[in-house]
Amino acid sequence: MAKTLSPVCKLCRREGEKLYLKGERCFTPKCAFEKRSFAPGQHGKSGSRGGRNASRTGQSDFSRQLRAKQKARRIYGVLERQFRRYYETALHRHGLTGLTLLQILESRLDNVVFRLGFASSRSQARMMVTHGHFTVNGRRTDIPSMLLSEGDQITVREGSQSLTYFKALPDLAEKRSSPSWLNRDAKKMAGTVSRLPERMEIDGSLSEQLIVEYYSRR
Ligand code: SF4
Repeated sequence: MAKTLSPVCKLCRREGEKLYLKGERCFTPKCAFEKRSFAPGQHGKSGSRGGRNASRTGQSDFSRQLRAKQKARRIYGVLERQFRRYYETALHRHGLTGLTLLQILESRLDNVVFRLGFASSRSQARMMVTHGHFTVNGRRTDIPSMLLSEGDQITVREGSQSLTYFKALPDLAEKRSSPSWLNRDAKKMAGTVSRLPERMEIDGSLSEQLIVEYYSRR
């Protein structure tokens, strides 16, 4: 499975904002960005991306487009080559390219597992899928990047339901919210994709327009 190799908290510091990549830890004082909100490295504090209050007015169009793309890539944990493939798929579909791109990212199996509240972060969801703990429409899968469609049903595999983590999952999941484009049955540890998300149901801090501009110029 492809994965980003750098420590995840550095990615938040690099982007100058919290990307919430480590689940519950992101909401505690242990969050690395709360302690050091400047970019990592020798010039972090003085660099143009340093700090949550750093001025970005001096950024070029290209730099803003690049950062928007990198931010989305990091939030969903997708490597460049795959991200570009998603963009090209979105480009050839009917509708708004930017929104379609975000819908593709949201329909990844690891993201859906996370959105259902079955994992505290996308990276945890990715690991659980890779270990084969889920079925899609009754068939076991270990592919986090699998794209789901309307009507697809995700369930914790029967053989995994007796594991300690999954025994506690119904209660854990109830405490986490789940978006209305997914139908969740926490007790059964199952969920269904009832439709694709609308724009207002996707992270509002993502700038799909800048991402489209980034790929359009290349
Ligand atoms: Fe980012 Fe979460 Fe790490 Fe904080 S704890 S720096 S929000 S990944």
